[in-house]
Amino acid sequence: MTEIKTIGVIGAGQMGNGIAHVFAQAGYAVLMQDISEAFAAKGVATIDKNLQRGVDKGNMTAEEKAAVLGRIRTTTKLEDLAACDIVIEAATEKWEVKKQIFETLDKVCRPGVILASNTSSISITKLAAITKRPEAFIGMHFMNPVPVMQLIEVIRGLATGDATFEAVMDLSKKLGKTPIPCNDFPGFVSNRVLLPMINEAIYALYEGVASVESIDGIMKLGMNHPMGPLTLADFIGLDTCLFILNVLHEGLGDPKYRPCPLLIKYVDAGWLGKKSGRGFYDYSKA
Ligand code: NAD
Repeated sequence: MTEIKTIGVIGAGQMGNGIAHVFAQAGYAVLMQDISEAFAAKGVATIDKNLQRGVDKGNMTAEEKAAVLGRIRTTTKLEDLAACDIVIEAATEKWEVKKQIFETLDKVCRPGVILASNTSSISITKLAAITKRPEAFIGMHFMNPVPVMQLIEVIRGLATGDATFEAVMDLSKKLGKTPIPCNDFPGFVSNRVLLPMINEAIYALYEGVASVESIDGIMKLGMNHPMGPLTLADFIGLDTCLFILNVLHEGLGDPKYRPCPLLIKYVDAGWLGKKSGRGFYDYSKA
């Protein structure tokens, strides 16, 4: 396996720009791809803003920040990812979107180059089967916000090879993160446990058990969680939450995963949480 020097990141949204940020900060060259120049530029602007926070706090110098940004290039063409030694996909959580991306990457990337997905819930085994390199396919599930969170949930698909697994565990440690392995079942570990809790919090709101603030306050103070489940849902994105619940519901066939009708209604209204300015809380003035 060739030494990993250049990292491809697909998607410049909240996860993609975070992944690009941490790799560039660890000294890797990063090529971040999105469907438009504007989306890619927005991703870079977010990295700039987050790095500036580190400068303001005295954690890095302005020169170090410039060097990190200098290691990040952007493109709108998937073909440009041919230069990368590993590609981590963090595009929208839709099967059709990821299918088209991996079909193209499989053709464009050199044989043996690892293809990884940051999917929250889509089967790694099924994504791997799109490609002709299932042994070099793996899940790298970063947590949000990527620069802050320590964990990478490393998901082995049915055909993931040992060399791929070891290379990704090693790369994750070089980033200063803690990789923890698990196997490929719907929701992996993190979302299989987290999403039913968030869904139950939404049911509690829907059934009038308590207000948004009370539900979050009780869970925060009572369970020593850093934030309440409704705040966390807004941060994750309500569309992403709904998608994951549907995957758990369909994949495991158990009615306990049925998405709350209130969640469906919010997503239908375009209330997607922090990223759209409105979710369980109003972010329009923030
Ligand atoms: P997001 O909506 O913030 O960003 C998605 C980005 O993908 C957008 O910039 C969009 O333009 C881009 N995109 C869409 N189609 C594309 C294509 N064909 N090619 C290239 N780019 C394309 O979403 P996000 O929250 O960053 O989620 C991205 C992935 O990370 C999803 O698979 C999600 O399940 C996963 N994830 C999300 C979280 C979270 O907390 N939000 C946590 C872990 C994993």
